[in-house]
Amino acid sequence: MYQDTIAAISTPVGEGGIGIVRLSGIEAHSIAQRVFSGHLSDRRLSYGRLLDPDNGQMIDEVLVSYMAAPYTYTREDVVEINCHGGVLPLQRILEVVLKCGARLANPGEFTLRAFLNGRIDLAQAEAVLDIIQAKTDMGLHLATKGLEGHLSEAVGAIRNELMSMLAYLTARIDFPEDEIDERDILIPLEKSLEKLQQLLSHADDGIVYRQGVRMAIVGKPNVGKSSILNKLLRQERAIVTSVPGTTRDTIEEVANIRGIPFVLVDTAGITHSKDLVESLGIERSRNAIGQADVVLAVIDASKPMTKEDRAITALVGEKNALVAANKCDLPTKANVRDLPWEVVSTSALTGEGVEELQTRMADIVLGGGVAASDALLVSIPRHKDALERAEKSLAQALESAKAVMPDDFVTIDLTAALNAIGEITGETVQDELLDIIFSQFCIGK
Ligand code: GDP
Repeated sequence: MYQDTIAAISTPVGEGGIGIVRLSGIEAHSIAQRVFSGHLSDRRLSYGRLLDPDNGQMIDEVLVSYMAAPYTYTREDVVEINCHGGVLPLQRILEVVLKCGARLANPGEFTLRAFLNGRIDLAQAEAVLDIIQAKTDMGLHLATKGLEGHLSEAVGAIRNELMSMLAYLTARIDFPEDEIDERDILIPLEKSLEKLQQLLSHADDGIVYRQGVRMAIVGKPNVGKSSILNKLLRQERAIVTSVPGTTRDTIEEVANIRGIPFVLVDTAGITHSKDLVESLGIERSRNAIGQADVVLAVIDASKPMTKEDRAITALVGEKNALVAANKCDLPTKANVRDLPWEVVSTSALTGEGVEELQTRMADIVLGGGVAASDALLVSIPRHKDALERAEKSLAQALESAKAVMPDDFVTIDLTAALNAIGEITGETVQDELLDIIFSQFCIGK
């Protein structure tokens, strides 16, 4: 247990109905009681006035909850002061609790304590961050599964298997005269390896669901890029954020496409200049494509394709791309057959083909063979990396066992696999990594 008590404003700073200052630690109760006129009792919400202990002046009218350790978020005593949600009451309350001996919490420090005190493991702590930052329902779904410990359970089971193999091998090294049967170790090794591979099989999809992908929408002026963008944005609920593009002339919006957050980079808004390069925004398109994971090339299907269309599609290069043959509500004139990408006929005007376009967009970023909806999806690159290292070590251990190498060879790789797996839930983890993970949290979480 820590000797210091931490405090922070846990709600976004701004104007709102309520704001919360949270305290955690052995002095949380006594500090809160010094600044609060009411009486705190365990798991009760108490009403009263929040006072500056220096001059007895009232800062706000508040409701304060007190939750005694160990059944709390951090496993320490926790106090939450609910005040009016304004910048000043929140800051003044934070000031007085700091004056009474609390220390300002670092980003994610409440969750860090929950981890270090053993209430949640590292994968669950990361899931908390993912819940806060989820952009789509699917992202939220994956994160809540993570918080419930589904991944932790799966890797925990593999970890236990590896530990018993290690124990078995160690015993065997100590009693070399015993009869040995190689199958004793080969079969469990193969089984564990299979489980690891199963977890890894859809990890890339999980990462796509969690992090989303960038898609550049390119095409010459007036083909309907902005119209398609708007259609895609209006389809499903997403946390839509307009952010300035990487260049002055691009727009970035987040659309929820089949549960995947797509950052759509629209290169529209290109001026009709006499200069071909300028009017097509070649440089802008090139940049947008360069930074994108996938490209949507839009052409106007109601007109024959021109060298301008070719000039832009030539920029796609090796990137994964789709073509929207737009304006399919008009008679078709464009010949798209020789384009090397999948072509979807769309009409941003009538909405025809937009559903199909979304399906193709999802397909192109998911690695085919979509996982069952209740499958355990590894969605954090750090976890995937650890699993891959574990897989490599385990495969190596299996090789050595098959080649009937001395048991030491197998145990070294087994230990490496165990360590790699332990990084996921945090059994084996460096402090620097913890710093990196928890610094991504906001203060107060
Ligand atoms: P951008 O310059 O590529 O972004 O093109 P816009 O989205 O601004 O569209 C250019 C013009 O084409 C606008 O007048 C749109 O209303 C029209 N347009 C866009 N999509 C379609 C479509 O599918 N069918 C028809 N008939 N017109 C469309």
